[in-house]
Amino acid sequence: MQKDDVLRLLRDPNLLPSEKLTLLSNIATQAETLGVPCYVVGGFVRDLLLGKPVNDLDVVVEGDAINLGRKLVEVYGGKLTPHFKFHTAIWHLPNSTDFVDLITARKEIYEMPGALPKVTPSTIEDDLRRRDFTINAMALRLDGEGFGEILDPLDGQADLERRVIRVLHPRSFMDDPTRIFRAIRYEGRYSFNIEPLTLGLVDSEALKVLHMLSGERLRHELDLILEEERAFQMVLRVASAGVLTSIHPKMPKFNQEYADYLEMDIQLDVPADRRSMGFILWFLDLTEEEIFLLANRLDFSNQLSLDVWAGAQLMRSLPHLVGAKPSEWTYALEKLPLLSIYAVYLISRENALLSYISFWRHVKPRTNGNDLKAMGLLPGPRFSEILLKLRSAWLDGEVTNESQEKELLAKLL
Ligand code: ATP
Ligand code: MG
Repeated sequence: MQKDDVLRLLRDPNLLPSEKLTLLSNIATQAETLGVPCYVVGGFVRDLLLGKPVNDLDVVVEGDAINLGRKLVEVYGGKLTPHFKFHTAIWHLPNSTDFVDLITARKEIYEMPGALPKVTPSTIEDDLRRRDFTINAMALRLDGEGFGEILDPLDGQADLERRVIRVLHPRSFMDDPTRIFRAIRYEGRYSFNIEPLTLGLVDSEALKVLHMLSGERLRHELDLILEEERAFQMVLRVASAGVLTSIHPKMPKFNQEYADYLEMDIQLDVPADRRSMGFILWFLDLTEEEIFLLANRLDFSNQLSLDVWAGAQLMRSLPHLVGAKPSEWTYALEKLPLLSIYAVYLISRENALLSYISFWRHVKPRTNGNDLKAMGLLPGPRFSEILLKLRSAWLDGEVTNESQEKELLAKLL
């Protein structure tokens, strides 16, 4: 693309808000002052050339990124978090939660499949060659006269036009099998295709390396997929590439009937996030033992393990609960995470679950422990038993006002 066209895209406030353009030009000015060539790279360039709003700013410097960062803080304020080992820095912008990643252009050498690479400072070209796909391996020059020039040694623009995801070399997935998930994410997100030779590289050798990846790295990739709008299609694609069974033989397909609920906008007062909802739905039909194995393999947090386990558990016990009294539902559900209950409600449309979420869980008798004490009762098991009976009476509609509650209390005492 010609420089003029790029400049026009950069000035489009629908793609790049004006304060971000100012930010770019500030970085450009300071890089120029220090005499270091400086580029914005990766997803920013890809999305800009696609005419889509850009997200994070990844800046690569042919020179010391930490030095540039210090200069930026000196002139514009904010805070710098340097990582001396990798010669990178995060510039936290002043009066904002936003930040910019500053990276020293580098070369990466993978000495062992699947292990993290050895890194040495190098040129922008080498920096682009260490990246995952051609469409992510373009740079846009910032400093000096070059502002707005696209550097595209791997022909990413041609692949953007062809709408394909292509690796940079045949060992790419062996070096880093997480790129398989990344390929599927971009393919689904932009309705591109993974180029056939690239798809062919997702072979048994690459899957063997994937099998050795840590649970944390794998779960992070699945998290990112679940965050995407077309998560279900992406999971299907991951499954058909043979990736799921390489993660763990018990890894299930995503039940198609549950797919619509992945994108549920949760209106109720339920703490929710797409990732947890995604995993609850994904593992809803599994046994307790399978969930235990997978939660271990994927390094789930205790909370996520509980969410997923509770969903599957409730799904199984639902037939035994149907027809129960509100109090029985309430006591059965009270220990389970709300999100798990909500997920099972979406699937089963069992109204009692919704009643529990919206009303029953908030129902309390008017009488409390202090009232009982004031009546001369000593705290103990009797205490909670009485309070529980009062609460049940409210839940089941046997008591509907305060004087009825008092009557019942008198009887119980
Ligand atoms: P997204 O819109 O999903 O954030 P992105 O391109 O910004 O897409 P990031 O994960 O933020 O992706 O990474 C930024 C850039 O770093 C990518 O564009 C790519 O050039 C490079 N990159 C990220 N992960 C890898 C990887 N596993 N292997 C090689 N290059 C990578
Ligand atoms: Mg990004």
